[in-house]
Amino acid sequence: MQNDVVYLDHAATTPLDERVLEAMLPHLGGAPDGRPRGNPSSLHSAGAAAREAVEEARASVARLVGANEPGEILFTAGGTESDNLAVLGLAASDPSRKHVVISAVEHPAVREAAGHLEATGYEVTRIGVDAGGLVSPARFAGTLRPDTALAAVMWANNEVGTVQPIEEIAELCREAGVPLHVDAVQAAGRLPIDVSRVPVSTLALSAHKLHGPQGVGALYVRGGVELEPVLFGGGQERGLRSGTENVAGIVGLGAASRLAFEELEERTRHEEALREALISGATGLPGVRLNGHREKRLSNNIHVSVEGVEAESLVLFLDALGYAVGSGSACASRGTPAGHKASPVLLAMGRTQEEAISSVRITVGKDTTRAGIDGFLEAFAAAVSQLRELSPLYTS
Ligand code: PLP
Repeated sequence: MQNDVVYLDHAATTPLDERVLEAMLPHLGGAPDGRPRGNPSSLHSAGAAAREAVEEARASVARLVGANEPGEILFTAGGTESDNLAVLGLAASDPSRKHVVISAVEHPAVREAAGHLEATGYEVTRIGVDAGGLVSPARFAGTLRPDTALAAVMWANNEVGTVQPIEEIAELCREAGVPLHVDAVQAAGRLPIDVSRVPVSTLALSAHKLHGPQGVGALYVRGGVELEPVLFGGGQERGLRSGTENVAGIVGLGAASRLAFEELEERTRHEEALREALISGATGLPGVRLNGHREKRLSNNIHVSVEGVEAESLVLFLDALGYAVGSGSACASRGTPAGHKASPVLLAMGRTQEEAISSVRITVGKDTTRAGIDGFLEAFAAAVSQLRELSPLYTS
């Protein structure tokens, strides 16, 4: 990436914070005292040092989500693995229950895991959303049954940024005796998360959405919740996630969690101001419509459908001008057959196929500047008008 690129795709991944990198380096072989790298399972002092670093990170992640005990945090290889472990692991913990409820706007990591259960004989209820992308708690309550093995509703959506009424949904699950998995990959570090108040059973996080490294994440598992492993081996992470720990990655996730906790308010305030400037600037153009809930949305997200413009052309045009934005969701924008398909999230919200394939996601971060946003809005207006001139279908 060129240095002068204005990066506006923080929902896809965030830049690694320099303070996080510094914390990780000694665990990648850069220990200033030349100490050898240890395996946390080893008895010698290098092993003990690695173990201590992992436990320190566990405490930081626990604090970020309000867990009672650091032991309720399991380290994984990212949001996808955390979601899979929760969905498959909760389902397997009570084989007598064969029904699963998910929202229609879940990330593929939950959606496809539930689809896998469906293929093996489970019944899956996919609960719809309103035009803003919200799940109705009353409708949700009506889907829970005595044989529901688990429900999964994300805290905040990765495409349109809508924030769900998770407190209410979690309370309904608690009353019905149904374990609730919450994907908080986009919410963590942007919204206060406190599992001591919100009775979720499991909750997924990913370091690279929090200015930490890619390929490492965590799953909060409330004490007493039964979960079966999906990986088998040396019994690390209480037997729930075997495999030698990614010590440097875990240390990075710990440092990123500590900084996100300490800087949450400041970051949110900064991002919200930029988001509002973006919303009014972009939707001030003719034929540009905001997707997602106007108020109940992430501090850093704007998502718009641009009439007469194909999202991929707009993303590439803006890239050439030095602005990186997302088309739809990062996971579906490249290299998968979904790349040319309309986003299921937008379709679930009642958007047309055309609106869905003409939508872009612009997500800011703690280091985005007002000057970057002003420049972006100019480039966006120019790109939209030039692409519309080329479009045989667009008539203003
Ligand atoms: N869940 C949500 C809401 C996400 O946005 C993402 C990443 O885009 C994931 C899960 C998957 O996380 P990871 O990239 O760490 O596997």
